[in-house]
Amino acid sequence: MLLLDIHTHNPSPNEHIKILNGHTAKTKNFCSVGIHPWEIDDDWKSRFSIIAEAANRANVVAIGECGFDLIKSRATKDVQQEVFKQHIELSESTNKPIIIHLVKGQEQLLQLSKNSKHKQAWIIHGFRGKPEQAKQLINAGMYISFGEKFNPGALKATPLNRLFIESDDSNRPIAEIYKSIADVLGLSLEQLALQVLENAKQCRVI
Ligand SMILES: [Zn+2]
Repeated sequence: MLLLDIHTHNPSPNEHIKILNGHTAKTKNFCSVGIHPWEIDDDWKSRFSIIAEAANRANVVAIGECGFDLIKSRATKDVQQEVFKQHIELSESTNKPIIIHLVKGQEQLLQLSKNSKHKQAWIIHGFRGKPEQAKQLINAGMYISFGEKFNPGALKATPLNRLFIESDDSNRPIAEIYKSIADVLGLSLEQLALQVLENAKQCRVI
């Protein structure tokens, strides 16, 4: 059974499809390019121009991870917003969805989503929030990706056609993560795998 891992930091090959998080896309694997909110420094503009160029490569299938981390990032909220806006523009100009890191900052993200009138899919990765938060993001048209740790209520509140699954920085095999999510949803591994592949096609990730 072919599984899609929408977001991983683990470059070692396996039999599944994965989107590797990478800054310069120097890999043949599918990958995403962006500046993580933890990595925003005074030099982010020059790094972003390298990313913008790499974003045109065929194996770069998404922009990110990027977004907001109002706890761990050293950058101010305003700077994080400025950096994220650049990623929105890049996503729209390359027709590639965005993989979003979101810790706090949900209101800011929802506001930006509304104001930017983006056409590309926005995928919130590694979602561990509560069902209420998930519903707000879903109502705004976003997709939600779940990993090793998640709130089961939030998972159940997510429509199947808005769902992704990821390993992120976990060492757990993606098949085990799929299995634990399939169990909560009362689906077979195969049903879940096919649904996620279908969602990826909807977002034009693969
Ligand atoms: Zn990540």
